[in-house]
Amino acid sequence: MHEFAAPQSPIDVQSPVGATLVMPTAGEQLRLMHVHAHPDDESSKGAASTARYVAEGVHVCVVSCTGGERGDILNPAVDTPEVLANLPQVRRDEMARAAEVLGVEHHWLGFIDSGYPQPNDEGATPPLPDDCFALVPLEVSAPPLVKLIRQQRPHVLTTYDENGGYPHPDHIRCHDVAMAAAAAAADPAYAPELGAAWQVLKIYYHAGFHYTRVKAIHDAAVAAGAESPYAEWLEGWDHSGDREVTTSVPCDLEHFHVRDEALKAHATQIDPQRWFVVPTHVQHQVWSTEEYELARTWVPATLPETDLFAGLRHTGTDSNDVETAEVVR
Ligand SMILES: [Zn+2]
Repeated sequence: MHEFAAPQSPIDVQSPVGATLVMPTAGEQLRLMHVHAHPDDESSKGAASTARYVAEGVHVCVVSCTGGERGDILNPAVDTPEVLANLPQVRRDEMARAAEVLGVEHHWLGFIDSGYPQPNDEGATPPLPDDCFALVPLEVSAPPLVKLIRQQRPHVLTTYDENGGYPHPDHIRCHDVAMAAAAAAADPAYAPELGAAWQVLKIYYHAGFHYTRVKAIHDAAVAAGAESPYAEWLEGWDHSGDREVTTSVPCDLEHFHVRDEALKAHATQIDPQRWFVVPTHVQHQVWSTEEYELARTWVPATLPETDLFAGLRHTGTDSNDVETAEVVR
């Protein structure tokens, strides 16, 4: 019987649950899977590094756990009764366009957005809707992702940390489901009808919204005489939630432009006053990397690193000639 519990061990080289570790062979296409909560998360987190990896030939698969049905319309330019009445379909269309821009394969997990319940005047948070993703037991929400992991066989998987990156119930649940599914996918005893067991080799958390980066972009905006969209955010920053950055992926300006186009595809979700106030080339000048936290690895890793596939790439032509390194922290 497979237990659906997210493992909480430190970053040491993990022992496989049962599936054999299958390293990429020389010349084999590398595979990356991003597991996100809502359509638009793939464009607001790690999208420039996605563009970079796609450009270098990596196969990237994006999974959206929910359809974003309970999202608000955050862009006044498209806030019309027609769009609101049709929001689920509008968001599907936006996601299809973003996937095309990013050059990724996209899959829906098929669960319903939980919404982001806000406390009322008395400070009480309303209960989550009965049908929502955050309340679906892992025994139900993990298997469709197990199936996708076994079909796609990603070498590297990304998701959010155990706090969700921000406290949206779907983001926290996305973490639980991704970690549980990655573990179950590697267990040959679990649901063989969902495909042959597959062991992901590295799992990362998105860590792009960290203080140093947001502050650097804020300072650049102020220096250019623009009004920074981040002033209030920085003032109220709670450093107790800061995470360790282990991995900074360098991105070119053109990858930032792809990210911007993907964001714009999600017209209902992207407030231009927040995302596009600081010109893209200025953002790239002051901060050209995207950050991640290595959460689990089944191969030796040397930290800090600059590549999600560090330790998995062939340095020569011999099929066993994979970079090797000890875990150094
Ligand atoms: Zn989201």
